[in-house]
Amino acid sequence: MSEIDSLKAQLESLQSDALAAFSSAADLAGLQQLRVNYLGKKGALTEVLKGVGKLPPAERPVIGQFVNQTKQSLSTALDEAEAGLAVKAKIARIEAERVDVTLAGRSVSKGALHPVQQGLDEMTAIFSQMGFAVAEGPEIENEFHNFDALNIPPEHPARAMHDTFFVEEMSDEPMLLRTHTSPVQIRAMKQFLAESGEPPLAVVAPGRVYRCDYDVTHSPMFHQVEVFKVDRDVSMAHLKGVLKHFLSTYFEKDVSIRLRPHYFPFTEPSAEVDIGCVFCAGKGCRICKNSGWIEVLGSGMIHPNVLKSVGIDSEEFSGFAFGLGVERLVMLKRGIPDLRMFFENDVRFLRRMGS
Ligand SMILES: [Zn+2]
Repeated sequence: MSEIDSLKAQLESLQSDALAAFSSAADLAGLQQLRVNYLGKKGALTEVLKGVGKLPPAERPVIGQFVNQTKQSLSTALDEAEAGLAVKAKIARIEAERVDVTLAGRSVSKGALHPVQQGLDEMTAIFSQMGFAVAEGPEIENEFHNFDALNIPPEHPARAMHDTFFVEEMSDEPMLLRTHTSPVQIRAMKQFLAESGEPPLAVVAPGRVYRCDYDVTHSPMFHQVEVFKVDRDVSMAHLKGVLKHFLSTYFEKDVSIRLRPHYFPFTEPSAEVDIGCVFCAGKGCRICKNSGWIEVLGSGMIHPNVLKSVGIDSEEFSGFAFGLGVERLVMLKRGIPDLRMFFENDVRFLRRMGS
């Protein structure tokens, strides 16, 4: 066999080996390795080319052309094999990522507002619908707003009854955690007078309050909603009408109410408000201690001294005010037996109370 025929035979066998290897390559990395093995600088084709130097110069172009053809066809075969593998890889990926739309979905657990927050929102909304403006005040108060301006001077025994938490070294004057939402009355009246000059004003002030007390019916932190209205000729009749409407709306039934004379420093006259028992409709049960009545809040006509403390003429204007315990009303409405359940944050309880 002549030298040139031997080279041609080598090239043909190399080409058929290469094509077989390309078509059986398992992946793109394997194919890349084959490209190096056959067409690389130190590849099989280069090895064959080394033989070309031994040929007579006249035959070299002939074999050169043959080598180029082989190189071209191997390169084309590699590109085709590569494209084929890329398509296969894509199909495999799509298969792997297939979503079975017939599978049942995973349930996402929903959060809910805390029952106390639900109660605050409900109560505030009822007063908003009656035209009361919503106001808020700071939880850290000074003695003026929490006591003095509400007709509770330093020597007044009511101060001792409030079991106040004092906050030390906040400023030059003694500061405390507000013991009721009534200081918002003072702040709202002062702000309103500064902006509008004179009454009427009607405000609802929901918020947190603090007292150093803890048992089945007391928590050191609890919530109140303070409601008051100041205008000319405001009377106890207005107070009773607003209370009746509020309590009937909140309990979603026509509740009867009863005002009992009482004493609060910041109202005169003052009354404690009872509602006809929402559990036994007045027949008598364990909750109402067989009296048919449940005490729900304290109320009264704003004391003239309180109006004076913010500069409202108590001869010309009068007002009513009341403060209600949010936890107590929520317990009554939703049948919760122990105040502490609100603050234990047992998820089962919170879920049941969620809405
Ligand atoms: Zn009852």
